[in-house]
Amino acid sequence: MSAELNETDLARRRHSMVGDQLRRRHITDRRVLAAMEKIPRHLFVPPGQRHAAYEDGPLSIGAGQTISQPYIVARMTELLCLTPTDRVLEIGTGSGYQAAVLAELAGDVWTIERHVDLAEQAEARLTGLGYHNVHVITGDGSMGLPEHAPYDAIVVTAAAPFVPDCLKEQLAMNGRMVIPVASGPHQDLRLIERVAREEDEVIAQDGDTPAEAGEVSGARRPGGPCFRETSILTCVFVPLIGEHGYPR
Ligand code: SAM
Repeated sequence: MSAELNETDLARRRHSMVGDQLRRRHITDRRVLAAMEKIPRHLFVPPGQRHAAYEDGPLSIGAGQTISQPYIVARMTELLCLTPTDRVLEIGTGSGYQAAVLAELAGDVWTIERHVDLAEQAEARLTGLGYHNVHVITGDGSMGLPEHAPYDAIVVTAAAPFVPDCLKEQLAMNGRMVIPVASGPHQDLRLIERVAREEDEVIAQDGDTPAEAGEVSGARRPGGPCFRETSILTCVFVPLIGEHGYPR
C-alpha cells in the first residue's frame, strides 16, 4: 500500500463514502450506515485497486467478477430490513464484502459463490476479520441452499433471467428477497416479500410484466404461498450462471 493510503486516510475516505454516496442518496438505515462506516472495504479488493476502494462504482475482483458499487450494497441491504436474529442467504459471495455487511446486521449468513478461488479468498478475509457467523459455500446458488432454509432474507448479487421459484420457496413467512432480474439491456432490482394469505394479496409469477416502481403485480395461485413483488430501480450486475440462471 502506498504511503498516502494509511489507516487514517482510508477511514477518512470511508467516512466520505458514507456521507457523499449513501446519506446524500437517501440511505437512512442507521445500522446499514454504521456497518459500512466500520467495514474496511479496501481489504475486499485486490491490492492494486485499494486506492479506488471507496469510490462510487463497482471494481474488478478477478475471475471476470466485481465487487458492487457501495450505494447498491447499501440499498439492497436496507431493503432487507434485517434484525439481529435473522437468517440470511446471499447468492454471489464475490469478495465477501456484502456478506460482511449482512454479518454486522443479522444472525447467521450463508453465502454461495460458484468460483472456488473467490469463495476461498472471501472466506479467508471474513474469518480474518472475525466474522464467524458467515458460512461460505462453493456451488451453484441459483438453486438456493434448501438444507438451511427457510431464510428471513435472501440477497442475489448477480442478475437472473427470471425470479427462480425455488428461491421464493426458501423464504420464511414475512421473508424478503432482493434480486436483479433481466429487463432489456439493463436489469430491474426487485424486492420480493413473502406475505400472509389474504384476499387482497397477489402472487407474482415468472413471465409477469415487471411491476412499476412501488406497485404490486401478479396473479393468484390457489394453495401456494403468497408473494408481493416491487420494482425498485434499474441496475447492472454480472449474470447469475447456473441451473436456474443463465447457461454456463
Ligand atoms: N456480493 C459480492 C461482493 O460483495 O463482492 C459481489 C458479487 S458479484 C457482483 C456476483 C457474484 O456472483 C460473482 O462473484 C459470481 O461469480 C457469482 N455468481 C454468479 N452466478 C452464481 C451462482 N449460480 N451461484 C453462486 N455465485 C454465482
